Amino acid sequence: MIHVALAGASGRMGRQVLEQLLSATDFRLVGALESSRNPELGTDAGALIGRPTGVRLTDDVRRAIEKAHVVVDFSSPDATASVLRAAAEKGIACVVGTTGLTDEAKEALDEASTKVAVVAAPNMSVGVQTLGEILREAMRLLGPDFDVEILETHHRAKIDAPSGTALRLLEIATQAQGEASSSVRNGRKGNARRERGEIGVHAIRGGDVVGDHTVILAGDGERIEITHRATSRAVFASGALRAAQWAVGQPPGKYTMAQVLGLR
Ligand code: NAD
Repeated sequence: MIHVALAGASGRMGRQVLEQLLSATDFRLVGALESSRNPELGTDAGALIGRPTGVRLTDDVRRAIEKAHVVVDFSSPDATASVLRAAAEKGIACVVGTTGLTDEAKEALDEASTKVAVVAAPNMSVGVQTLGEILREAMRLLGPDFDVEILETHHRAKIDAPSGTALRLLEIATQAQGEASSSVRNGRKGNARRERGEIGVHAIRGGDVVGDHTVILAGDGERIEITHRATSRAVFASGALRAAQWAVGQPPGKYTMAQVLGLR
């Protein structure tokens, strides 16, 4: 039985993880962290989804994680930094799904990964890991004469732009292209002629879109467009629980979803 503490337990992702965790036989919820501004603090973490858990929402990170084998975090960058510090202190593995990490949170992540296993991925879905692998291979086959553009669409409430997944795809494209020749263009306006080696990244926001990512590889006379569409947050939640199961018992280190899934 894996004991899980959930950070950001009342959020869109938190509720999805909670649903799956409560339906699984091999996980137990032992802590639920929420913002000090959350009016539901002190109430049962499952109240929002109509499933009592016996675990109350708290804003005390140490209390939230004290009984956990692993912390699953879908919160905000500030919370992520304090979760990572507290988990490292207690020797508890972490799965970080939060995106838009600040420099402080990235430092906390690097530091924690010297003491505990940390799986960090801006996208926990199997499909997006596959999209990354396809992109890497497509760019290898097509060579440097194909221009790369990355488009992402998300719901109106998403805070960070471009999405963490778009930034991960950018990282893959930059590596495939050879870092020295790459430059990044976020959106275009005015005199925006394309430079060779430029990678465009464009964010669209609206409605309740869970998350769409398209990479366009455009050459002379032809182009390839590779798209992943998430239609349910359940795919991120099941990926996060798979990562949680995998992370428990791993030696300290910073791990990717591709490693969790055995893709590389
Ligand atoms: P959300 O706003 O619905 O939920 C975030 C929750 O965190 C809220 O309930 C909020 O009250 C809570 N929170 C804020 N500050 C906190 C603090 N200091 N301590 C504890 N809790 C705090 O957002 P969401 O859509 O659930 O997304 C959460 C994060 O996960 C975002 O960064 C998003 O980009 C990311 N995300 C990642 C994946 C992935 O697969 N890795 C998928 C979807 C979303």
